[in-house]
Amino acid sequence: MTSIDSLRNVLELECQKGYTDKAVIGGLDKYLHKQAGQIRQSINNPQLLSGLDELNLANSIYGSYGMDERKRWITNVFGWLDKVERAKEENNPGIKMLDRPSRVRARPRQKQREGLDSPITVIKGITPNVANRFAKLNVGAVRDLLYFFPRRYVDYSQRKPISELIEGEEQTIIGIIWQARVATLGNRRGTEAIVGDETGNIRVVWFNQPYLARSFRTNARVVISGTVSLFKGQKVFESPEWELLENKELIHTGRLVPVYPLTQGLYPRQVRKWTKEIVDGYAWQLGDFLPSEIKTRCQLLDLSTAIAQIHYPDDQTIAERARGRLAFDELFLLQVGVLSRKRDWQEGQPGNAFHVEQEIISKFLHCLPFTLTRAQERVLQEILTDLSQAKAMSRLLQGEVGSGKTVIATLALLIAAADGYQGALMAPTEVLAEQHYTNICGYLSQASTQEARHEPGEESIRCYTGFLSGPLTIALLVGSLSNSEKERLHDKIKQGEVDIIIGTHALIQKEVEFSKLGLAVVDEQHRFGVLQRSALRQKGFNPHVLVMTATPIPRTMALTLYGDLDLSSIDEVPPGRQVVKTKWLESQYREKAYSFLHRQVSNGRQAFIICPLVEESEILEAKAATTEYERLSREVFPDLKLGLLHGQMHGSEKEGVMRHFRAGELDILVSTSVVEVGIDVPRASVMLVEGAERFGLSQLHQFRGRVGRDKEQGYCILIPEKISLEARERLRLMERIHDGFALAEKDLELRGPGEFFGTHQSGLPDLKLAKLSDLRSLELARQEAITLFQSDPNLKNAEHQPLRQRLSQVWSKGAEWS
Ligand code: ADP
Ligand code: MG
Repeated sequence: MTSIDSLRNVLELECQKGYTDKAVIGGLDKYLHKQAGQIRQSINNPQLLSGLDELNLANSIYGSYGMDERKRWITNVFGWLDKVERAKEENNPGIKMLDRPSRVRARPRQKQREGLDSPITVIKGITPNVANRFAKLNVGAVRDLLYFFPRRYVDYSQRKPISELIEGEEQTIIGIIWQARVATLGNRRGTEAIVGDETGNIRVVWFNQPYLARSFRTNARVVISGTVSLFKGQKVFESPEWELLENKELIHTGRLVPVYPLTQGLYPRQVRKWTKEIVDGYAWQLGDFLPSEIKTRCQLLDLSTAIAQIHYPDDQTIAERARGRLAFDELFLLQVGVLSRKRDWQEGQPGNAFHVEQEIISKFLHCLPFTLTRAQERVLQEILTDLSQAKAMSRLLQGEVGSGKTVIATLALLIAAADGYQGALMAPTEVLAEQHYTNICGYLSQASTQEARHEPGEESIRCYTGFLSGPLTIALLVGSLSNSEKERLHDKIKQGEVDIIIGTHALIQKEVEFSKLGLAVVDEQHRFGVLQRSALRQKGFNPHVLVMTATPIPRTMALTLYGDLDLSSIDEVPPGRQVVKTKWLESQYREKAYSFLHRQVSNGRQAFIICPLVEESEILEAKAATTEYERLSREVFPDLKLGLLHGQMHGSEKEGVMRHFRAGELDILVSTSVVEVGIDVPRASVMLVEGAERFGLSQLHQFRGRVGRDKEQGYCILIPEKISLEARERLRLMERIHDGFALAEKDLELRGPGEFFGTHQSGLPDLKLAKLSDLRSLELARQEAITLFQSDPNLKNAEHQPLRQRLSQVWSKGAEWS
């Protein structure tokens, strides 16, 4: 991408974000100051250069402007960028033929024979070469070009009499060409014309396009759209958009003119000509797949109108409605797809209805050293209701770090075991799996009448009696067990001699066969791929599935992305839990933070130090962490025991370090962002994050959740590398807000869903127009999808066939996503 293209992208993003200076991290000014040189180097036209110098990008002070000033400033830059685009065309001699009004009228009958799936080369003028350029924009078939939407519009709809033209505004005139000739402009040849209407005349010039003079016959009627400037005291249009007024709809002037995302070798005038041709010739062929009932209820435009209007809108209002309809389609298709997948699971085969024995639950709860929070109680009921039905549960359990999800999962596993089923819990790392194993065994030894019995040397399997009516066997299955241990466990699992199995990916190896898997629990689900989740599901006969996550996302969005799952949220942490005291420090006070760490360690506590995120490369990040670890060990904490953790280490190495840290054999753990989510190190009290401004709020909150898990006060110290206004604001939010959901929402607002989800979204159908942050639209699309499913769950009705077809088109790529 050229520096000009990226400038345009950044500014468009900035407009979308409502001029909040959030388009680039660190702010627009920083970006501009850095890019100004490169942008300037890419321009050699003197006119454009002087325009650029007026904008003075290298010293921009956008950040200090108020809203109106920001808008005005960006509009100016766009004005200049449009001139750059036009100059590009002017320098490309291949274009001039296309600019001549075509005398060949469209031949609609021929087009009817070409379908929407024909390659775009069926359009006159789209050569295989041009098609290659479109391919870069993911446009191959006619249908793709219909769905190739403009990024914005230039408003040339303001028609003015010549005498009323105002300098500096985008305006349109319709006039008669009095004279047009090749002229020397500056030191190059161009075209000069005098255009007049009943109120006056104006000079119009086009640089570098002498051939235009021939297109302008004297007395022809012409439409001119552009910005009026002053030259030697006279008003003039410089290289404006133009179009001869014939019996054709205007596409370059006199209206809202679409601005398309372009790539090298595609020019706006050409692309407009083609999109217009395709809209006129093919949009009517798009059958509307939305049931008319939904369209009426939601007051949506019909599909071909929406497509036509999003390209060439009559006015802003209808452009918005077109956008609304097409965004609705995206969300609705997403929802219906997600819901059909859920139906496939639930109605494909019956699930196992568990007998829920209340007595077991109360007995277990009675033995806990605490009582459940109200949120835990509620979620437990939701889960128990699911388990008691002959329809497989698919539930997502969200809950803040430390909100107590494990107890709830344990209860569900016990209910499965009590009814003679096996239950499995899969965690993303060995350390986490071990932690669950230890915790659950801890709970059970409280609740059982007899001590756990296990054969010597067999740490990974325990048996409790006196709690359920029969013995309860629980096992830990992780990759680091010896082969013989693994084999013995595999055997017992297959024979049904183990009731609850806790493990890592080792659980989904093909050697593992369950005799009767009734419930699968997946912890920290975002750490697992889709396939791993469904692999566990497939180990049983349509088992109940519970997935848990500590990365909360707003409810409506969760429903959209995980709409195939029902949602439960633990939205309260156990009482008495301390908030982690959070403070951000400028880097010059780092020494103070170090002495604080020192004091905490002398009081028997432990600390984490997180190294800055290096986005480009995990290798560089690991290297930076290693250097920091060495520096800290040598210069800052020579008397303490430090450990190092980063993504380049082997799994077993990582597990080893975490284990040492957890066991209290290390005082300080220096780590990259890989430090495991969900890990419980009761004695850790300080989390120090370097380069804190580079992490998302949710991620910082996850880090912070690693400390203060005991009764003791926890501390989080955030040290930014560079402190911009925006970073300051974000870090202050961390000091103030301790609710993960609220932070997630802020994060989403500040960074947008793309970054928030990372690669998470891959496999989902494309969302080009819809915004996941637009909760109202999400809710509407979801409601409609649910209503549709209630009336015709299998989309069997004749009127739903087009929808079915469209669904398979958009979901084909991501079919295995779930
Ligand atoms: P997470 O939701 O992060 O997985 P855990 O299940 O690991 O949380 O619970 C964190 C800690 O809180 C554990 O030590 C657990 O025993 C404790 N805990 C869970 N529920 C309660 C409660 N209602 N009251 C007090 N402590 C609780
Ligand atoms: Mg957990």
